[in-house]
Amino acid sequence: MKQGKLLYAGKAKSVYRTDTKDKLIVEFRDDITAFDGGKKDTLKNKGSYNATVSAFFFEYLEKNGVKTHYLQMLDDNRMAVRTLSMIPLEVIVRNVAAGSIVRNYPFREGMKLDPPVIVIDFKDDSRHDPMLNDDLIIALNLATPQELQKIRKISLEINRLLSALLAKQGILLVDFKIEFGRQGRTIRLGDEISMDSMRLWDKKTKESLDKDVYRFNKGDVMATYNQVSRRIVTGAARPAATKKKTDTAQMRGPGSAGHPAKPKTKKR
Ligand code: C5P
Repeated sequence: MKQGKLLYAGKAKSVYRTDTKDKLIVEFRDDITAFDGGKKDTLKNKGSYNATVSAFFFEYLEKNGVKTHYLQMLDDNRMAVRTLSMIPLEVIVRNVAAGSIVRNYPFREGMKLDPPVIVIDFKDDSRHDPMLNDDLIIALNLATPQELQKIRKISLEINRLLSALLAKQGILLVDFKIEFGRQGRTIRLGDEISMDSMRLWDKKTKESLDKDVYRFNKGDVMATYNQVSRRIVTGAARPAATKKKTDTAQMRGPGSAGHPAKPKTKKR
């Protein structure tokens, strides 16, 4: 597959055409932003950590019956995906109150939300991604009632699958944002699922393992992304002090110094 012209450059990813109409290449760049682009940096390896985790989740979700845009990883930062017609909705699933829901509503941070709360925002930077409701989504012709029902159902299923997977690694899935697109009449999960788009807390210490470390200067964000990507992809949930020396070597992916094992690059 040959990489073609740049189709779109977002805040942290670029999307390229390929020589095949139904396939695109997503490049996860080393750029990181927060607060609507108000805080910006470029951090070495950031793109590859997010690409690796996204690919790992997409493969896991596909194996469990969730349709995604994922095809294969091309290298550390580039992912081949199916071309989708993206739906400009940001679907946020929340299991625990944190972030904007605590700022905007009388929830205490850390409060369990059971059943999970789904919030859908309009993906429009110029309007600061305002929250939508079903009537607005339908009036704006962003999705049909049937599509909306399907999007909610898939989102809850993704939440169930990811929460269970992460719980095994001692990680609490606090919340995450996902985006969907259409391939013909099929709704597929698009975009990414990474430390940039999830809120993850260590189950025991409640320490942030995601972009909140960058947003709120909680520490070395790349050290966190490095550790959490290894923990997610390899299941290396044990604390460093109890690890055998050989574990570090085993955790390294083929041909990538210090990177977690890569998801398979099989053709589909
Ligand atoms: O900021 P807020 O609490 O609404 O974010 C909820 C979740 O959605 C967080 O995990 C955040 O990283 C993610 N999010 C995102 N992109 C946005 C808005 C939120 O990935 N534009």
